[in-house]
Amino acid sequence: MPVKVTYDKDCRMTITGVECGCGCEHHGIDKDIYIGSGLLPRIPDYIRKRGLGTHCVLVADDTTYAVAGADVEKALLDAGFDVVSCVIHREGDMLPDDLSCGEVLLSITRETEFLIAVGSGTVTDTTRINAERTKLPFVSVGTAPSMDGYASAVAPLLHRGLKIQRPAVCPEIIVCDLDVLATAPLPMIASGVGDVLGKYIARVDWELGAIINDEPCCPVCVEMVTDAVNALVDNVDAIAAKTPEGMRILIEALLLAGVTIMIIDNTRAVASIEHNIAQYWEMIMVQQGLEPPMHGASVGVSTLMVWPMFERFAREDLSKLNLDDIRARRISREKRERWMRHSYGVEGGNAIMRENPGDFLTWEEQERRIRRAQERFAEIQAVIAAMPPLERIRGAMMKLNAEMTPEEEHIPDDLIRRSMHCGKDYRTRYTLFKLIDECGLLEEYLADYPYPFE
Ligand SMILES: [Zn+2]
Ligand SMILES: [Zn+2]
Repeated sequence: MPVKVTYDKDCRMTITGVECGCGCEHHGIDKDIYIGSGLLPRIPDYIRKRGLGTHCVLVADDTTYAVAGADVEKALLDAGFDVVSCVIHREGDMLPDDLSCGEVLLSITRETEFLIAVGSGTVTDTTRINAERTKLPFVSVGTAPSMDGYASAVAPLLHRGLKIQRPAVCPEIIVCDLDVLATAPLPMIASGVGDVLGKYIARVDWELGAIINDEPCCPVCVEMVTDAVNALVDNVDAIAAKTPEGMRILIEALLLAGVTIMIIDNTRAVASIEHNIAQYWEMIMVQQGLEPPMHGASVGVSTLMVWPMFERFAREDLSKLNLDDIRARRISREKRERWMRHSYGVEGGNAIMRENPGDFLTWEEQERRIRRAQERFAEIQAVIAAMPPLERIRGAMMKLNAEMTPEEEHIPDDLIRRSMHCGKDYRTRYTLFKLIDECGLLEEYLADYPYPFE
């Protein structure tokens, strides 16, 4: 049965057709997701239905308070809720840093029963970490379709100037009002589209993991995300025009990506090498005191950068690989450790290696993977052939006036080149980049991104 997304009279999303017998453990979707027009006055009802209580802290920044926060606050007060307003004022953009997290924490009292975040990434993540630490449920009211993190359970934050990720919680209720989303500036919408387009890469990498390493790959999650991304590419004009239908297609794609995380409890369908590279840019730029591009904007650009590698690999002749030669060129464990500390810093590199202990392969394992790729190359080609033409992706991004190159995003040149080499090393998750490396082809493929190490 195909996956189907419908809405009830309250605009609550229902997803059917998610029954699946793949090897992944599946969880039910137990959150309330509402998408529709004119939803803000209905939020008190949504909260009552879920029984979250009546005492809340409302978190917003100056911008999100103006576009939706004030209306949400009024709706709650009119309905008899007790609201402590935590509007975070900043000269420039609000950051998800120690100060913002502290401001939310100190607004919470012993009476607080739930938190309500009105905003996009920063406000939501700042609230999310507080919800996790105080064990209070939270409600997310989205203000921009700019990233796929609304339904996430991880909070990317800034701690003492460094980019960190902390386990947190998913909102109990997500409300996305299409009229509010349409007020988002075009670059934020382009960022959301970039984040979604990266899912094509995530899909291929997941399917490669299944082919090479027998990794369980959930067809339902793949279908759910692929249908949503295809709809987005087909309707990019409506998205650029910010019509209600366009906003619905975009936010659905962003939220359904999060729904797959709820179902299989990992981000396999959502993020792969393109996210690793984008996150690496962000991490290093923050360290260097530079302002990184928006998350989804970086993902869009890194997607364009890695895409040709997939097309090229599909044309490869793996029968020509010389295994003795590949074995002779393997780097030693010591050199890999130096590389990891060089790319990710001593602390970061050590942490990644600790969390991914199997990432330095024995030759036997590497050889097994190469032989598997040779045997099942037709399947690999078919998976890559199912990607849409790159020109369609570029065309979609151009219609939204999205940033197309890392130069436009002011990413330092050496960082771009290093990220193409080290993005694959961020985690064990299997990617085409790992396969290219295992086949001894990485230097050849990255000849345009030379990075002399030692
Ligand atoms: Zn993302
Ligand atoms: Zn499944």
